Amino acid sequence: MQSDIPVFYPNMLKLFSECPLRFYYRYSEQIPTPLPDKGFVTGKNIHSLASYYLKGMDITKFEKALTPKEAEMWSVLKNNPYFDMDIVGVEKNIIARLGDNWIGGRLDAVIKNGNSYFILDYKTGGVNSDMVYDFQTMVYLMLCHSVYEGYDSLSFIYLDLKNNKEVTIVFNDDLKIEYEKRLSDIIASITEFNPSKYEPNPDCNCEFSNICRPN
Ligand code: SF4
Repeated sequence: MQSDIPVFYPNMLKLFSECPLRFYYRYSEQIPTPLPDKGFVTGKNIHSLASYYLKGMDITKFEKALTPKEAEMWSVLKNNPYFDMDIVGVEKNIIARLGDNWIGGRLDAVIKNGNSYFILDYKTGGVNSDMVYDFQTMVYLMLCHSVYEGYDSLSFIYLDLKNNKEVTIVFNDDLKIEYEKRLSDIIASITEFNPSKYEPNPDCNCEFSNICRPN
């Protein structure tokens, strides 16, 4: 595949790992996809509210407009201990080099306690307990590692608002080596991908099924 994608984001890498052809239709051919579902709207509302709150805005009228389910999740998020620490950035866009490529992400929040940094990510749909090699984990930790030099510790905190739990990944030198390898490998696979030689899975379906299997 022609590498005309300037920055690789976690959702792109995840999609390629699930189906290279689907990735190709969405990001190389840029074929429009359906509108997001209701769960997406809930997530968006909570993320916006958290952003306003951390920026010190008056959120009273927004809180009143939440659905009961959203209000429950917001209560969990608002009372998490990280929101009492120092705010480094909210909805922060970061890009950084990874070898010859660029990786990027939009981080919900970066928080600091002394010289320890925490990347926060709010999940309204639940989260798996093993997120160490999730693309979002790998990309965001590598991004913050390159931006916040000299930190004492760097951790990724998934705040699972649906189940009121937290999943933490602490970055270290071994993970850095592993993340660099995994991310470089998948970006190389994307660059080398040839859709004409890819055999579609006959049993799966997605928004591009009619294109990928026209008969
Ligand atoms: S239908 Fe299956 S093989 Fe075809 S693009 Fe979608 S996920 Fe990929």
